[in-house]
Amino acid sequence: MKFKAILAFLVAGSMTATAAAQQTGAGAPPPRPAGAPAAPRSMLPPPEPIEHITGNVYKIFGGGGNTLVVVQHDGVILVDTKMPGNGQAIMDEVRKITDKPIKTIICTHSHPDHTGSTDFIRELYPNVRIVMSEGTKAELAANPQGNPKLLPTETYKDRLTIGEGDERIELFHTGVGHTGGDTFVVVPAAKLLFMGDVMAWNMAPFLPAGGATAIAVETEKLVDAVKDMGIQIVVEGHGHVNDWASLVRLSHFNRALVTAAKAAYDRGDPPGAAVAELKRNPEFAPLLDTHIKKGLEYGNTPLARAHMNVNVAYTEFAGEQAGFGIANGAPLPATDKHKGSDPKDTAPPTPEMLAAAVAK
Ligand SMILES: [Zn+2]
Ligand SMILES: [Zn+2]
Repeated sequence: MKFKAILAFLVAGSMTATAAAQQTGAGAPPPRPAGAPAAPRSMLPPPEPIEHITGNVYKIFGGGGNTLVVVQHDGVILVDTKMPGNGQAIMDEVRKITDKPIKTIICTHSHPDHTGSTDFIRELYPNVRIVMSEGTKAELAANPQGNPKLLPTETYKDRLTIGEGDERIELFHTGVGHTGGDTFVVVPAAKLLFMGDVMAWNMAPFLPAGGATAIAVETEKLVDAVKDMGIQIVVEGHGHVNDWASLVRLSHFNRALVTAAKAAYDRGDPPGAAVAELKRNPEFAPLLDTHIKKGLEYGNTPLARAHMNVNVAYTEFAGEQAGFGIANGAPLPATDKHKGSDPKDTAPPTPEMLAAAVAK
């Protein structure tokens, strides 16, 4: 099934663009909307026209994760480079707003929908600076089929400043969550934070690296690290431009999910009991929404994601291997240890759900 194929490659933590391209090559390309840029070699919706966010910051949706575009006096910084085969489309969109060279690429994490077209940009600009966390480099390098042209020219451990003054960019790595190397990017002059896949489609984070507890810690550390920077705009790794309050809500939710899951687990209740507990807090309503978002490339409803993450937490509490597997997209077994989740809770969206997707 096409949906499952997309999900499958996105959760292979160390899988690089080359391997992903091989997998995605098995499927038919998506229909190309009239006026859309050159069709990418992936099954995800193609890149859309570049959108202005604020000041000198733009984003390009589609073809993988959002690409953030920051135009500076001597060149352009790109954050994330979509799936393989989207390099020309990215450049076509950037050229609509500036002729300046690409000087820096930052990759938020190792997944192929965020690193895949780095090689194309690197060929155009051989001196481009490519920055990522040590963890992201390790994940890319660990893949025997990996593309060495996706590897960074420099890495950082937990904090890095790029540039100075009004053109300063701040990178933060606050722990393992979506992957082992998640990077958060702050553009201080724009009061803007780019989240990578720790925030996508305004739902709880997808946890292929495992760790419902880890992601709660990671988001709390992020909020604490950047809370005095006056951030107003929070750009998701896929999907929307969001705000500071929505990040704080996500952080509260990630923690509340682990707390509710632990209480339900200790009582011997099924995972659905923890989700029912979360539903009692009206602050969490957007994160428990039952609609498929319009434009969603892969994934499910926010409610289904909440169920998935409670299942991940149950595997952690049981001392089992977390990460993609039974807990991340399928119900838990109905053993005494787990009591099981309802298959409906984590099932992929039906064609009817996708057709009825709510507005962006
Ligand atoms: Zn992604
Ligand atoms: Zn990802």
